[in-house]
Order: sequence, then structure tokens, then C-alpha cells
Amino acid sequence: MAVYFQGDVAKAAPSIGRQRLRDLIDRNDPRTARFLVRLWNKQKSDITYAELRQMILTGQIDAETIERWQQDYSRFVTSELMPLWREMIHDAAGSLAERWPVWSFDANTEQIAAYTARHAAELVTNSTAQQIEAIRAMVQRAATVQDLTVDQLARIIRPVIGLYKGQVTANFNYYNTVRQNLIQNHPRMKAEAIERRAQEAALKYATRQHLYRAHMIARTELAFGYNNGEFNALKQAQARGYIGQLKKRPSTADDERVCALCKALERETVDMDQPFSNGMQFAPWHPHCRCAMDYIEV
Ligand SMILES: [Zn+2]
Repeated sequence: MAVYFQGDVAKAAPSIGRQRLRDLIDRNDPRTARFLVRLWNKQKSDITYAELRQMILTGQIDAETIERWQQDYSRFVTSELMPLWREMIHDAAGSLAERWPVWSFDANTEQIAAYTARHAAELVTNSTAQQIEAIRAMVQRAATVQDLTVDQLARIIRPVIGLYKGQVTANFNYYNTVRQNLIQNHPRMKAEAIERRAQEAALKYATRQHLYRAHMIARTELAFGYNNGEFNALKQAQARGYIGQLKKRPSTADDERVCALCKALERETVDMDQPFSNGMQFAPWHPHCRCAMDYIEV
């Protein structure tokens, strides 16, 4: 196993697992991100103007739409992520098996299934909730904008379906800015032309935002898959008596983009079965977290 050391914790070399994790993510990220973009495109085209108008008028999203979004994310997990996670569990186990050829890894243990299922359920719930929160905030804010009609609002809400709240707010602000600038600087431009230009600008921006979110989710979930596989493969090797006591320590990507939270956690070394101070067993700690794990035999 690439990230497996023997001996002194402090002297353990920076993880080679970090590079391995990065390679796995780079290889799989484009496909997983594309899956998400397709999913959101479908959600955008599935929603009717009648439904959008209803949302704006009531400030709420109907239960059927929420149900559909939830199903979409479930499908994302079962048909896209699960097979990748399984592959990564095997990948992690494979490097252990090289070390002990007699060892055969069992990926179907209850523990692996339970941990993965819990994470999958959380992912579906959180992604749907974030999306609902974002659209709700948008329709509620839209209701306070005086000079926009319901139809105009519907047209700017549709493209931001699938984004999270901060992104939706940024998109709406951008739309407003473009629109106000056109009104101020082109007094003779027709209202419809201004509206169309502002909508087009917001739409282009939304496309970039969807890509950003897609890669963020893809990369975080791929990191989860790898770290989950490694953790469980090591636990199994331990249970079979191949490895003794282990300590674990996160290893950041070690560049200027590493956040304070990850930097702080990197200073922690705990026993294999102990959670870190944030209550979690292994990275990724948050969206876009690129931390790998080091395991040290003591
Ligand atoms: Zn991190």
C-alpha cells in the first residue's frame, strides 16, 4: 500500500498515496462531472413554465419536483459513483494484496456496505437540500425585485437549477448588473433586447457554474471512494492479522490552496479506529478537499 509506513510516525515520508489519489481523481473526474451536467440539463428541461411560475408565485417548490431531484441524485450515486467506489476499494486492496499474496480481500463486508450506504444517502439528501435551498432563495429574492415580471423571472431561474445557493446568488447579481449597465449606458436600446442580452449573459455564466459544481462534487466523491477503500482494506488486513496497530494522519495537497481546516487536521495523529477532532474517520473533510491519508504501523 502506497500510504503505508512502518516505524516512527514523525519520520514517515510524505505520502505517495497523495499522488495516487490525485491520479485516480484526474482520470475519473471528467466522466463523473459530465454525468452531473447531463443530470442538471435534464432537470432544467423537465421543469415546465407553469411549474416555474407556480414556484415564483408561492415562493415554494412543489413536492413532485423535489422528489424528482432526489431520484436524480440517487441515480447518480447508484449508476455513476457506486461502481467507481467499488473499483477504488479494489484498487486500494490490490496494493495490499501485492504485499501479502495469500490475502484475498472481501469487498462485500457489512462494514464497507454500511459505511458506503450511509455516505451515499447523505450525499443524495445534502445535494437535493442544497439545490432546494438555492432555488427557494432565488424565488424569494426574485419576488422582492420590483420591475421583473413572473415570465422574466422564470427565464432566469431555469438555467440555475442544480447550482448551490452562493452560486445562484452570484448568478442573479450578475444578471442584475448586466441589465442595469445596459439600461444606463444604452438608453435607446429596447427593453426586450436588454432583457435578452442580460439573460444570455446569465445563462453563459450558469454553464460555467454548473461545470464548477460538477467537478467539485466529482472530485470530492472520488476522493471519498479512494480513502474509504484504503481505510477498509487496511482494517480488513488488520483483522486478519497481517498488520498490527495502526495510526493515521491526514496529508494535505501541500500547496498554497490548502485551507486552514485541512492544515490544522494535518497536525493530528490518531489511532486507526479513532475519529479526528472533527468527528470524521478519514478525508475528504469538505467539498474540494484534496487530503490523502497516511497510515503508520506502530
Ligand atoms: Zn483537505
